Amino acid sequence: MNAHHQLTTESPNRAALVAAAGAAALIVVATLVLLPNSAMPLGEVKPFLPMFATAVFITENLTAYLLFTHFRATNEPFLAALSGASLFVAVMAAVQILVFPGVFSATGLLGASPQSAVWLWVLWHGGYVLWVLWALLVRQRKGKQYSPRRQTQIGAMAIIAAPLIAALLAYLAVADGGRLPPLIDGASYTRLAHSPVSVVVVLLNVLVLVACVRITRLRDALSAWLAVAVLANLADVMLTLAATARYSLGWYAARCLSMLSSSALLGVLAWQSSNLYRQIALAHNALAERSVYDALTGVFNRGHFDEQFLRDVRRAQRERTPISLLMIDIDHFKRINDCFGHRAGDECLRNVAATMRGALKRPGDYVARYGGEEFAIVLPHTDAAGALHVARELMQAVFGLNALDGSADVSDITLSVGVASCEPLGAALSADTLIERADDALYRAKRQGRNTVVVSDLA
Ligand code: GH3
Ligand code: MG
Ligand code: MG
Repeated sequence: MNAHHQLTTESPNRAALVAAAGAAALIVVATLVLLPNSAMPLGEVKPFLPMFATAVFITENLTAYLLFTHFRATNEPFLAALSGASLFVAVMAAVQILVFPGVFSATGLLGASPQSAVWLWVLWHGGYVLWVLWALLVRQRKGKQYSPRRQTQIGAMAIIAAPLIAALLAYLAVADGGRLPPLIDGASYTRLAHSPVSVVVVLLNVLVLVACVRITRLRDALSAWLAVAVLANLADVMLTLAATARYSLGWYAARCLSMLSSSALLGVLAWQSSNLYRQIALAHNALAERSVYDALTGVFNRGHFDEQFLRDVRRAQRERTPISLLMIDIDHFKRINDCFGHRAGDECLRNVAATMRGALKRPGDYVARYGGEEFAIVLPHTDAAGALHVARELMQAVFGLNALDGSADVSDITLSVGVASCEPLGAALSADTLIERADDALYRAKRQGRNTVVVSDLA
């Protein structure tokens, strides 16, 4: 996986975009079909409103939460502002169901007037799109004006201010004391349909829908589904106004669209979250795999050797099988650097490592780069005699190697090797002791004049 691979919530995904287009088409068709008949009375279905309000309340809270977690991951204030929009709707839906006449009490709780629920509907459907508009404006300016610190502040503002403003507006609608113009008579809200208030709400929804399309250009799944949510809100407004009375076809359809508007973002966010988890798991696996190899030579690195050798020694003791360790140091390696430069030295290291790895035959054997030009080779199920044999083969393979491609001068690379084996079988030797013994043997090999292998006789 690319080192600069970025985890992102803004992945353009055809499936999500096509689904959003389908949902938008469905909303438009359903609205056009239902509009002429929206005033048809269907009668009051008692459980419908509490069900509807509960669904919207929970959905909007979950949406707000997911948007907020995405905001925390990306520090993108647009997401926080949108989260505020969802919290705003959640508060409005909760208060509206409490004050709705005939749900919790005949006249509604909280000392509501008959006008309260309608005014809450107006503030909800007008206020929601205003929050969305603000979020869109924040998104449009991002990066140009806001420092990361300011972005965080905007996020905090949106998430704290949105429910507070919603609560304040709800308070004004519920405790109006008859100051707000009446919009409903009994269950008929013909007044609302003919008041300038409804014109404002419709125009706001149209304006924000246009702004959403123009600012986001619907390029990513979240933007496309935000546009679906706003479109559903607009359709909800139109059907409600055309219905002119509660419990009519248009009124029920509008509430269904409200639920759709609420779940549009939740769906896409849940989908994106699971996508992110997948990306993270893939990135984690790729990193975990890469983290065991040495970047220069491609053999295992020191960190992996330290862990793996410990496991190998423990298993050998449990199973009472031999295990051997070879510590290998390239002789006079400094000269190669001094004569040919460090890049040539690196190439030589790569070639030596590859040659040693190629010379190992058993599947359990492995090479690790222990330090600069020192390598460790682990040979499970191998005793000292076998290890000595392997060491000689390795020395021969490397000696015959033209370690610098095209430069015959350094073909005679020699190795000094120290061998330590875990004997007798099952002996309680620690991995550290084996490393020390192999190291001692290696330095004896160096003292004996290099290009030689010494087996630790401490076993
Ligand atoms: P000896 O036979 O005593 O081992 O001599 P030597 O020159 O191999 O040993 P010494 O420890 O004095 O030097 C090791 C050299 O290995 C030092 C450094 O220049 C070189 N070296 C270590 N790591 C790297 C590396 O990653 N790339 C390159 N090009 N050289 C390295
Ligand atoms: Mg060395
Ligand atoms: Mg050396």
